[in-house]
Amino acid sequence: MLYFMKIVLATGNAHKKRELMQILPKHTLLLPHEAGVADNWDFDETEDTFLGNSLGKAKSLQLLCDLPVLADDSGLVVPALGGEPGIFSARYGSDIHGRMLGDTERNHYLLNKMKHLTDRTAFFVCCMTLMLDEHRIFTIQETLHGEIQYALSGNGGFGYDPIFYIPEIGCTTAELREEEKNHISHRGRAGKGISALLEYLTITDAPDALNIKRRI
Ligand code: IMP
Repeated sequence: MLYFMKIVLATGNAHKKRELMQILPKHTLLLPHEAGVADNWDFDETEDTFLGNSLGKAKSLQLLCDLPVLADDSGLVVPALGGEPGIFSARYGSDIHGRMLGDTERNHYLLNKMKHLTDRTAFFVCCMTLMLDEHRIFTIQETLHGEIQYALSGNGGFGYDPIFYIPEIGCTTAELREEEKNHISHRGRAGKGISALLEYLTITDAPDALNIKRRI
């Protein structure tokens, strides 16, 4: 017997939703506005770890809805830059007036900061939190290791993908097909953990407790 769950995503990023739909194909994933929660739901990322922000996003959205919530906080860590951009990945390089850079501008900003650095190692982090209700919270944090290139290549993915090179594969994550990226990525790995957890929950929980629907 198969079950699927309706899960509200704590993000407004439609690209993340697409990646997550591939990772959790059995379940119905909704952006907050699609679940009728809030038109412009957003979370002020004030914590100083991926874990703190992931939990914070999940808790703040869960207060607004009766459905299970899935939150993800992710980013790029460059050890040679002391861990930057880290939890500031999405807003890295924004100027003092708060103007956000576009993805391409931000990649050039990072490349410029690294122009004299020979240690190019970097990794993506994804901390994913599934919150079923106030008292049932599950978190998985995963990584994807690679190197920062000297220039952009590839049109796929988003964010730092055009400069994130994986030596074992010989290309950037922007040059991978979506399913190839999901197979190895920080988000893909965390999502697979959540998927396995959902399988377990749908076996051990009463359907009513999870808001799940029976599928033929
Ligand atoms: P979040 O939405 O607060 O989790 O911010 C994540 C930010 O980290 C994004 O805006 C991207 O800049 C970066 N990021 C996270 N995951 C990826 C990825 O898979 N590829 C490229 N950039 C990513």
